[in-house]
Amino acid sequence: SSFSPAQSRDIKHQMHPYTNDVAHKTIGPRIIERGEGIYVYDDQGNKFLEAMAGLWSVAVGFGEPRLVEAATRQLQKLPYYHTFTHKSHSPSIELAEKLVDYTQGRMSRVFFTNSGSEANDTVVKMVWYYNNALGRTQKKKIISRKRGYHGVTVASASMTGLVGNHRDFDLPLPQMKHTSCPHFYREGQPGESEVDFASRMEAELEAMIIQEGPETVAAFIGEPVMGAGGVIVPPDTYWGKIQAVCRKYDLLIIADEVITGFGRLGKRFGSDVYGIEPDIMVLSKQITSSYQPLAAVMLNDDVASVISEHSGRLGSFGHGYTASGHPVATAVAIENLNIIQERKLVENAATTGAIMQAALRELAGHPLVGEVRGLGLIAAVELVADKESRRPFDPLGKAGAAVYGRAHENGLIVRAIQDTIAFCPPLIITPEQVSDMVARFAKTLDEVQKSLQV
Ligand code: PLP
Repeated sequence: SSFSPAQSRDIKHQMHPYTNDVAHKTIGPRIIERGEGIYVYDDQGNKFLEAMAGLWSVAVGFGEPRLVEAATRQLQKLPYYHTFTHKSHSPSIELAEKLVDYTQGRMSRVFFTNSGSEANDTVVKMVWYYNNALGRTQKKKIISRKRGYHGVTVASASMTGLVGNHRDFDLPLPQMKHTSCPHFYREGQPGESEVDFASRMEAELEAMIIQEGPETVAAFIGEPVMGAGGVIVPPDTYWGKIQAVCRKYDLLIIADEVITGFGRLGKRFGSDVYGIEPDIMVLSKQITSSYQPLAAVMLNDDVASVISEHSGRLGSFGHGYTASGHPVATAVAIENLNIIQERKLVENAATTGAIMQAALRELAGHPLVGEVRGLGLIAAVELVADKESRRPFDPLGKAGAAVYGRAHENGLIVRAIQDTIAFCPPLIITPEQVSDMVARFAKTLDEVQKSLQV
């Protein structure tokens, strides 16, 4: 075959996440070797503008020496210790305090995990534990949204609202229910305004809660702006309405800020953008710029104190990971958050983000483009076979796959979510780099349009 030795070894021994393993054996992996700023380089010497910041996560860019130094310092001092059974260490203490400060006191306690999936599984267990502590043993169902993404472990995959995460995995768990996705472009009805659409989403949620029985529904979880489901920006009035329904029926509100946390939307949290007052907030990805695996479950006073007191009665909060609060990961997170603050990257997400949004919206007239949406430094361009009728491609994903592949030829890494192309560049991106990114994408679109002959 034409594979390099490294590609052949990869194919032989490594099974990849989110990969068609049969196709992988003919396509082979592209091997990324190093990164610098917003760029990565493969082992053939090709340079790519990483318009997805890896997996929505490398806020400070690749090759940031301060994070390397922070990791090295901690590795030399105390490479590992745990946080079980009355042990702690200073990086985890300092980060917990910093995160609480960063929420401006809205959250008061932090529980650390290694990944967003584990964090969301932890949330499910905390919600159940919380309601057991309150004697509400029937109140256990959790409502999420179709197309929502919360991870892949058994409970988090159950909350995820994507067919591919359920099919043939015997999921979702029966406690997990899915309400509609606030995707106005696709789900809005003819003649319906965005405000009416949001009201319909609210009514649907309320009907679901009543149908299930409010005494059985414990929580609602959502990403302020959906990421992996297609970068879905809800109508402005959506979250206020959802929040009111949750309060009416005594549901905990869980903001999954794994993508939106730390400035992605131009404010510290997506919750700030939409006025969400979560009881529980989930953070990961940009928390360390993904230089180390880390996630955090943040709890408000009420949830924290109920769980805390119940652990006293039971003798333990029987949950935790070997690497909960890992000293190297938390040390890297501290330095990463320092950089985000010192370099005003949240502000950059707002200002350079506005430039990116405007530049992508200039492509709205392109024959392949159905909708351009986004906020701050996250955006999506949804491709359609027919602009007027919004008819999708057949098969779905055909144009997305073509753009994904062609973009590499133009030195650009994007993500294709079926036929929706996602952009989520590092928060350090400059306006000049945004222009370059959008120009590469526009060229790609033209080339794909010719190849699809639409
Ligand atoms: N929640 C959201 C909103 C995510 O985007 C992701 C990952 O993409 C997760 C949870 C799961 O995180 P992980 O892949 O670290 O398990």
